[in-house]
Amino acid sequence: MTDIPVTASPVTDVYQRPLRDLRISVTDRCNFRCTYCMPEEIFGEKYKFLPHPEILTYEEITRLTRIIVRLGAVKLRLTGGEPLMRRDIEQLIQGLAQLDGVHDIAMTTNAFFLPQKAHALREAGLQRITVSLDSLDDATFRKINGNRSSVEQVLTGIKSAQEAGFDPIKINAVVQRGVNEDQIVELARFCRDEGLILRLIEYMDVGTMNGWRMDQVVPAQEMVERIDAAFPLKPVARNYQSETALRFEYADGQGEVGMIASVTQPFCGACSRMRLSPQGGMYTCLFATEGIDLKTPLRDGATDDELEAIIRGTWQKRTDAYSEQRTSATTDRKKVEMYFIGG
Ligand code: SAM
Ligand code: SF4
Ligand code: SF4
Repeated sequence: MTDIPVTASPVTDVYQRPLRDLRISVTDRCNFRCTYCMPEEIFGEKYKFLPHPEILTYEEITRLTRIIVRLGAVKLRLTGGEPLMRRDIEQLIQGLAQLDGVHDIAMTTNAFFLPQKAHALREAGLQRITVSLDSLDDATFRKINGNRSSVEQVLTGIKSAQEAGFDPIKINAVVQRGVNEDQIVELARFCRDEGLILRLIEYMDVGTMNGWRMDQVVPAQEMVERIDAAFPLKPVARNYQSETALRFEYADGQGEVGMIASVTQPFCGACSRMRLSPQGGMYTCLFATEGIDLKTPLRDGATDDELEAIIRGTWQKRTDAYSEQRTSATTDRKKVEMYFIGG
């Protein structure tokens, strides 16, 4: 999107960064156990997920989103946990699609339930889908997702999304040294052939449970070089200022690929993303330690203006730039988990 309009009462933070994107984590639950996100050892059968009454209802999410859109957000992304684990998620999409000022509604999903859901999502007004797929090799993929899904199941999900009319579809792959780095070129080849846009993501130190180490990160520059050697690339300018991906076109004209270099080439200076957790916490950074509780005032009868004042005040005080300040001391500190605020 190039021409993002200005809203009536936009808000900016301490560094003059506007609030443009809202990522809504609709559930803390997931049917996968990806080692870097919800490792099986911690998220076993005894793990206590949020009880239903603690999770925002669709009406509550829609109301908060309406207010956040007034403050400048034009792009929404539903994530989680696994957003398709939330029952009748298409009802939420339908409500969000009717809000004035919303220009884009996207979802990040592991694709497991897309065969049953893709058409309903499209009809409800979902505009874009990103599917996470870290490997085309079944054994590696199963190792990463806690043996919850085959590659085949995800490919079937992608096909369903294509049949439902989602185009283009993005594929997210988190690359880890020694785990799936051999898949970089394979994924590029597959996405070129299938008309999908690949986004290779540097493994990040989100949360506290994945035991992240810098030597597990494959720098974006190295990923670019590996793909370029197989399929020559040329760089493309960013679509809009806060775009996170470093984008490249294939020199032969067969599509594009992007890298999310959040560790080696951070982009905090243009970060316009706010995150909403399943139980109504407002987070101004993926690496935040704590959120601002919006659910309590919401359920205690706060008016829209009062809620807007809380969100505006929080954003105006925002100084987050974690990725640009990352040191060994910061990677060890307490941070919110990824499944709680989405990617
Ligand atoms: N369950 C959905 C999915 O996997 O697509 C949505 C939620 S998931 C938390 C969103 C994205 O974050 C996924 O693409 C996932 O690969 C990515 N992610 C999770 N943990 C990560 C980490 N430590 N570093 C980089 N990306 C991560
Ligand atoms: Fe689930 Fe997505 Fe996290 Fe994997 S990355 S455990 S699919 S929420
Ligand atoms: Fe935005 Fe925080 Fe990521 Fe920087 S580290 S780009 S401020 S979410």
